Amino acid sequence: MFGDISNDQTAIDTAPGILTIDLGALAANYRQLKQRVGAARVAGVVKADAYGLGAARVVPALYAAGCRDFFVAQFSEAQAIIRTLGRDARLYVLNGLQPGAERACAEAGIIPVLNSLDQLANWSRCARARGTELPALLQFDTGMSRLGLPPDDVDILLQQPSRLEGVRLLHVMSHLASADEPNSPQNAEQLAVMRRFAAAFPGIEPCFANSGGIFLGSDYHGALVRPGIALYGGAPTAGVPNPMRPVVRLDLRVVQTRLVPAGARVGYGGVHVTSGERRLATISAGYADGLPRALSDRGAAYHGDVRLPIVGRVSMDSLTVDATALPPGTLTLGTLVEIIGPHQTLEDVARDAGTIPYEILTALGRRYHRIFR
Ligand SMILES: *Cc1c(COP(=O)(O)O)cnc(C)c1O
Repeated sequence: MFGDISNDQTAIDTAPGILTIDLGALAANYRQLKQRVGAARVAGVVKADAYGLGAARVVPALYAAGCRDFFVAQFSEAQAIIRTLGRDARLYVLNGLQPGAERACAEAGIIPVLNSLDQLANWSRCARARGTELPALLQFDTGMSRLGLPPDDVDILLQQPSRLEGVRLLHVMSHLASADEPNSPQNAEQLAVMRRFAAAFPGIEPCFANSGGIFLGSDYHGALVRPGIALYGGAPTAGVPNPMRPVVRLDLRVVQTRLVPAGARVGYGGVHVTSGERRLATISAGYADGLPRALSDRGAAYHGDVRLPIVGRVSMDSLTVDATALPPGTLTLGTLVEIIGPHQTLEDVARDAGTIPYEILTALGRRYHRIFR
């Protein structure tokens, strides 16, 4: 699937690491999610530079696949991508606005998620000052205690509907805390709360499901779903086979190889000591490139089908693998080894690092040569 690479060959040949982003797989994932939700619209969550993959390329690819609703977290992210969108697209800011950003947001036609009565008041004031209606999503806290109106504030709003003056609600919204765990009772609890709140706003359709929520079934879909990780090939549900197509592949170059005797210390702190003669290879990326230091003496690279365990601590710009399982001379200066790819998924790397795929993706290094296919 990552076969025919057509970008600038010298840049590819000399890059310390090659990050291949399969925009065809991204579009296929979008279409798969669309099929799963039937009549609901499928947004693209493209916050944090499209989970580290590059919003400048991901957003147009999703738009071309039919996506017309885009979510970022911060207003500055919305400002950065709005020009890449067609006029028929809608762009939402999940964290809403800091005081003072309302006017610029209104002028740009960007749609805030209103998370608190304060954010609502500021948006309503902006609308009244401009003498127009301004669109927004209204978020409820259905049990995550992070963003959105808590139940008491929903009650206040229902008693004082004039607080919504000038605000045109496009959707009521909430976010699931445990959507990747289908057996968590928290999902049904949040759904019940969401239904109660949504019933108080008749005619305004809910926006509820993230990637995991889509796979919880149609009860969770509402009118607009908000997948992020599943678009980028991450598993939407824990503990079952991942139905999404991989989007990211990462290959890193060998910088140097050496044969060391038993008792050699490897890397910072000398914490890894070889138990016998070993062939080692130093690989050209480290924690500054988004390979967590938690991979020290854990995790691996692959050459073909052969697993090359990471030995010693991960450095800022390099890490070392044990290549003893390969015939001598297999790895030399410039050889590529796989970090994320057919032999080792994003989920594998995240597990070895003691973290989640989201954190691996959003930390992907800026020093890699990026190929978009
Ligand atoms: C990040 C985010 C999403 C996307 O979540 P995924 O698990 O990546 O699908 C959806 N909604 C909100 C509110 C988010 O913060």
